[in-house]
Amino acid sequence: MIDLSTLAPPAPAAEPNDATPKRVWFHTFGCQMNEYDTGKMRAQLRIDGYQDAAAPDEADLILLNTCSIREKAQVKVDSALGHYRRLKRLGQPVVIGVAGCVAQQEGQALLTRYPDLDLVFGPDGVPHVRKLVEEARSGRRVLDTDFLDLEAYPFVSDLDPSVDGIGAFVTIQKGCDNKCTFCIVPATRGAEASRPSTQVIDEVRGLVGKGVQEITLIGQNVNSYGLKTPGEVTFAQLLYEVAAVPGVSRIRYTTSHPRDMGDDVVAAYRDLPALASHLHLPVQSGSSAVLRRMKRFYTREHYLDVVNKLRAARPDLALTTDVIVGFPGETDDDFDATMALLDEAQFVTSFSFKYSQRPDTAALRLKDPVPDDVASERLSRWQVAQRVRSLAWTRGHEDQEVEVIIEGPSRHEPTVLCGRTSGNLMVNFPGDPSLVGRSALVRVTRGFTNTARGELIA
Ligand code: SF4
Repeated sequence: MIDLSTLAPPAPAAEPNDATPKRVWFHTFGCQMNEYDTGKMRAQLRIDGYQDAAAPDEADLILLNTCSIREKAQVKVDSALGHYRRLKRLGQPVVIGVAGCVAQQEGQALLTRYPDLDLVFGPDGVPHVRKLVEEARSGRRVLDTDFLDLEAYPFVSDLDPSVDGIGAFVTIQKGCDNKCTFCIVPATRGAEASRPSTQVIDEVRGLVGKGVQEITLIGQNVNSYGLKTPGEVTFAQLLYEVAAVPGVSRIRYTTSHPRDMGDDVVAAYRDLPALASHLHLPVQSGSSAVLRRMKRFYTREHYLDVVNKLRAARPDLALTTDVIVGFPGETDDDFDATMALLDEAQFVTSFSFKYSQRPDTAALRLKDPVPDDVASERLSRWQVAQRVRSLAWTRGHEDQEVEVIIEGPSRHEPTVLCGRTSGNLMVNFPGDPSLVGRSALVRVTRGFTNTARGELIA
């Protein structure tokens, strides 16, 4: 175990300490938080001369940034690790590290299971990745799963050097103080800490200076931003501050907790045109009884009340959500209540999963597991109904003129541009690549389940 007290704080302005070009291959699993953590590691390692490798077999360093929120995600990590370890056994001189939530959860067990693994560190190791990699390169096997001091949490303010698009994530918070009974995040990412708003605004300014127009603020429960820090602004106030930075065209954020969605945030939807007309508000279940067992601390009625207030403030708000089916004790009636919510809340898309048992979670102790075939059947019913609703939503845009920010050419058709509406609908339309980064008015000609086709008007 490396002693963190000996580590220097992150040094954004440090000079490269090794001019030799080195190649790093990142493999990122899971959520946007992980994508952003990977960006921060890339920024830190760039100081030491690391460039992105074109392929894993060209890398001096392979870092897997892992997710353990569902069992399936964890299985994927094991399989990828097997592939990378084979490269090492074939003679490639590569340092292999596992970062993120699986690393935090398994720690020493990973090093024991994989004798050729060099480095294991949890999400709180990200600010110190340079030091950890240096240790591993010197031949030591390194384990770092300590949580850092919340009072002085070193939020890394380096900008991801790979940011070259029109959108970027900005971390405003780490960890979570909630204890939803199905969730492993508090065990893997630790308690909640809010990043100082001055740092957040500085980073937003820096990103805008690099051409970024769309800022996505990220945290596990953004609505509780600042509440633990005396003198800090609230999340709603932070939204107003970000919107006031010249050059910010759009603001998104994730993830919200329905219990903490206050009237001040609802008011921001009325006041701030830059706040996107899209909100991801995870409901998890439409049954108040199931929500109680999940320890979500809101009811179905409260959720719908919040949705109604939001729609009163922003009538065209596109709402997306997360749903878990087959949670222990979920009856047919409970599930029917969830299905009914699809129409009542009008979710335009959703991430839906069968409940999967995770270590260190309170739901492991709950009785009345739902048989797998029942959970599968419920998941499939939800997903079929969701696809119908998603298609109805995209088709509802047909013949309408929508404003998009053009994000780039399509991966499959270089002469086709991809633009995103404020409501998060991706519209593909023929256009000149010189328009990338501009706003455009597009007429939607055809809606598909998740995207739409259109033609440029202006
Ligand atoms: S709010 Fe609940 S689901 Fe979200 S990260 Fe915290 S514990 Fe997990």
